[in-house]
Amino acid sequence: MEAASGASSMRRTAAILVVLLGGAGLWWLGGNGTDVAASKGALNETIAAGQRKTEANDPRLTGAHRFEDGGWIYVHLEGDPASVGFQHGYLLAPEIEDAFSAVSAGMMHETQRDWTFFRTAAREMLWPKIDTEFQQELQGIVNGLRARTNSKLDVDDIVAMNAFEELPDYYVPWYNKQQKAAHAPNLKSPGNCSAFVATGSWTKNGQIVMGHNNWTNYANGERWRIVFDIAPKSGHRILMDGFPGVIASDDDFGINSGGLMVTETTITQFEGWDPNGKAEFVRARKALQYAGSIDEYTKIMLDGNNGGYANDWLLGDSKTGEIAQLELGLKAYKLWRTKDGAFAGSNWARDPKVIREDARQFEANNLETSPNARRVRWEQLLKENKGKLDVNLAEKMLGDHVDSYHQKPETNERTLCGHVDSSPRGVDVWGWAPYFPGGAVQAKATDSTMTKEMKMVARVGHPCGEDFLAKPFLAAHPEYAWQAPYLRDMKAGPWTEFHSEETAVAQKQK
Ligand SMILES: [Zn+2]
Repeated sequence: MEAASGASSMRRTAAILVVLLGGAGLWWLGGNGTDVAASKGALNETIAAGQRKTEANDPRLTGAHRFEDGGWIYVHLEGDPASVGFQHGYLLAPEIEDAFSAVSAGMMHETQRDWTFFRTAAREMLWPKIDTEFQQELQGIVNGLRARTNSKLDVDDIVAMNAFEELPDYYVPWYNKQQKAAHAPNLKSPGNCSAFVATGSWTKNGQIVMGHNNWTNYANGERWRIVFDIAPKSGHRILMDGFPGVIASDDDFGINSGGLMVTETTITQFEGWDPNGKAEFVRARKALQYAGSIDEYTKIMLDGNNGGYANDWLLGDSKTGEIAQLELGLKAYKLWRTKDGAFAGSNWARDPKVIREDARQFEANNLETSPNARRVRWEQLLKENKGKLDVNLAEKMLGDHVDSYHQKPETNERTLCGHVDSSPRGVDVWGWAPYFPGGAVQAKATDSTMTKEMKMVARVGHPCGEDFLAKPFLAAHPEYAWQAPYLRDMKAGPWTEFHSEETAVAQKQK
């Protein structure tokens, strides 16, 4: 390892301290008061393991660091794929272990399949089609995790976790159908997110404005609070939000140094899977890293499309001012683009061919449902604010509480800032039962100017600023008691700005 400057080695020490303290907090929370002694033992073990390994001063950690701000955990990762993975696994080790337990429990509960099933799918179906560099990054995560803790997780676990948005709700229903599985649960593709992108005469100064809030169950959503700043050896710099242990943003919101702005919302009632295709999380990460234009982005997403986590991608090219919507079904897709307009997403497909071939059950005219009610609200808000749209307004719109079907302010499954835990209806089209603990869990926004400077703003928790509290919720809704070990308070943080940081090489050159 080359000699690091005093400042950067101090920064690294501080970053490692933050990691250890973060780990301590998690262990206390995870203890639940039931087995404090075991918890304490595990905590001491984590710290000891961390200190032991830190002394090794692994050169793969060069340039990487971590800090926390506004409820987010920011990690800067750089270098070749194995190093980026190693840094990811090392710096986020406690969060990856914690996220893995929540995600795997959810996947097994929902599908009634054991974990071996998902490991097998990861190893036999997904792994052989993953590009070498992302295989190296995934293996690097495992190596980093193990260098920090005594983790038992291996690469099959990490690949299955990376596919948590596509295996349970896309692959498993397809597999059950193929196998004519008896008593198979009625699985439905998820409805994740509210988003928009606008440009030209729609925005305050003609530049692109993009905003997104992530909808998911609160157990996973409360853990979706990583900001990844990645300087890969090849491809563009990336700044994106993300999930511990996962190489794609996955909810998705990201920008790159090629000037591209990317977000999406899923297609409700999508059905389809191609076992010979390439995992969505790999294509999405690859596209954010390598695409510098709308056309390049589209090409990468279409290459090996497996139908997993089928989305309406909202894209912006800050170099040209052009925006696009890529509605990516499996049998059909459609690309719309404009330099003067706005595209919104709230989990509805709009191309008749995509609906006919890939989302046959979707009722585009049923305005009671969450996707369509939010579509109506987006149309109202974007029209009302035409010519005024900017990041400030994006922040407000992402926290909007107007139910367009009831035509009044409420907090429920039909509001852009979703609170399904307060809805007696739930969201049937996604298989979310009444009072399902899910909804909008965090939000992000950016514009062309910020993208050129590699900046975005982000808020953890409900984008309206309200807190979700697990204890009273579980007391009122014992039907969700199975989630008790994983469901935590989801407290809203402030809107916080993040930007890409200098690489170790750039710092050294000064
Ligand atoms: Zn809200």
